[in-house]
Amino acid sequence: MNSRRQFIKNAALAGGGLLLASSVFANIVLPNRKKVIIIGAGFAGLMAAYELDKRGIDFEILEARDRIGGRVYSHSFGGPDNLIVELGAEWVGEDHHLLRQLCAEFNLHLDNNQFDTRAIYKGQFYDDLKKIESHEWMVTYEKLLADYKSLTPEQKDILDHKLDKTDWWRFLVDHGCSGTDLDLRDLIDSTDFGESIREVSALAAMGEYTSNSPASRNQMDYKITGGNSRLADALMARFEHKIRKNTQVIKVVQRNKVKVYCTGNYIAEGDRLICTAPTFAVSRIAWDPILPESMLSAMQALEYARINKNAVLFRKRFWGDDAFDMITDMPGHYFYHGTKNQTQNTKRGVLISYTIGDKAAVIANQSDAWRADMMDQSLYPAFGSVSQYIDGQELQYWGNDNFSKGAYAVYGKGQWFDIFPRLNKPHLHTLFAGEHLSDSWGGFMEGALETGKAAAEKI
Ligand SMILES: Cc1cc2nc3c(=O)[nH]c(=O)nc-3n(C[C@H](O)[C@H](O)[C@H](O)COP(=O)(O)OP(=O)(O)OC[C@H]3O[C@@H](n4cnc5c(N)ncnc54)[C@H](O)[C@@H]3O)c2cc1C
Repeated sequence: MNSRRQFIKNAALAGGGLLLASSVFANIVLPNRKKVIIIGAGFAGLMAAYELDKRGIDFEILEARDRIGGRVYSHSFGGPDNLIVELGAEWVGEDHHLLRQLCAEFNLHLDNNQFDTRAIYKGQFYDDLKKIESHEWMVTYEKLLADYKSLTPEQKDILDHKLDKTDWWRFLVDHGCSGTDLDLRDLIDSTDFGESIREVSALAAMGEYTSNSPASRNQMDYKITGGNSRLADALMARFEHKIRKNTQVIKVVQRNKVKVYCTGNYIAEGDRLICTAPTFAVSRIAWDPILPESMLSAMQALEYARINKNAVLFRKRFWGDDAFDMITDMPGHYFYHGTKNQTQNTKRGVLISYTIGDKAAVIANQSDAWRADMMDQSLYPAFGSVSQYIDGQELQYWGNDNFSKGAYAVYGKGQWFDIFPRLNKPHLHTLFAGEHLSDSWGGFMEGALETGKAAAEKI
């Protein structure tokens, strides 16, 4: 990912407009006792507020939902065992240093949330995914990643532009992945990106799979004890009186000052604006003056992953192992134990069926009874019939979310070098932040935190 970071710097030097816009903004020092308005109380907005708070700069957060946290959304199934699952962001990565540092600061414990992956493939259950991957392909794949990591920055720059012109599926095929190996890579990597890897820039994928330290399992390493939302709560506790929930921004007028018009006839006024809304929501705000055409068309081009989480509570944990997860070629797609580390005082447990792309959209539209049947069929080759153990279900389909229309941004073929720089520009008194604008941890909570912090630092 460093190469991407380098690209953005180079682009800023080469493109006068971008350089001018950022530097003009950066040089304006906010006079004393002035105010910053923040749109969104997700991780980017809360982090921006936290940084402004530390610097003694006044701010107000406007949040459209009746809750904070945005796409970080922990859910309790209630009852005496109070099992908590994540309906939004799940894993904290070993290399997510900012998030881990905040957890340490707020005394939030991180549980190990790594899994040992099984598979159901062509009707057969395998208790270890490695049993069906071919040794030859594994060697080739590891070498591809190692070769990329060993490139000089100049070599990387040339290759990155080539990679961005192709998709990850094509790249794998062109490098000898076929048959079962290709089917498995497709299932696993599409789970990471939330859409088919035929839609994903090979540069985005290469960046993701080469940025892990040896201790990390693809950044699927930890989860905050008691739910990831606890970090949002801990941040909020510092400045709760400055957050206004149920307040959707509908219009932004920028003159000498910024006037922000919201639902409920509420108007906020400030000197600067940090907008952390996902691109769909940004494009629904009436901007005066309007956003530049290049930014608007970039927002229209960027897709967000359609992910559906169907969390199913079972009376009995028939899957046995606490660290159970499984990739399948069945409709349920990817299953994992959503209540790992919470099983000491209960027999119950939650399996989450994590579906992506078209599968997610289909499954989200069906009834609980249909989904229970689907779960039963998907798991049958491994466990026989399990529907008699179902005790409850909770569904969260992000593809229809009012504000994001997806789980996280997916940069497609050719989009990284084209639309990322167009989105990542200030607009008069407004700075944009959010996971989609992170050049190192896009699609992760870490990326949201990083961009929120960076926006506050610029002010
Ligand atoms: C299913 C799923 C799985 C994920 N898995 C992981 C994972 O395992 N690990 C990981 O690190 N990350 C994961 N993520 C990604 C992670 O959740 C996001 O990257 C991160 O939470 C985004 O934060 P944000 O602040 O950029 O945006 P958001 O959380 O979307 O915050 C933006 C806020 O702005 C508000 N808003 C929007 N429009 C307006 C408006 N007009 N007026 C007022 N408020 C508005 C929204 O309501 C929202 O609260 C996952 C996400 C999903 C959905």
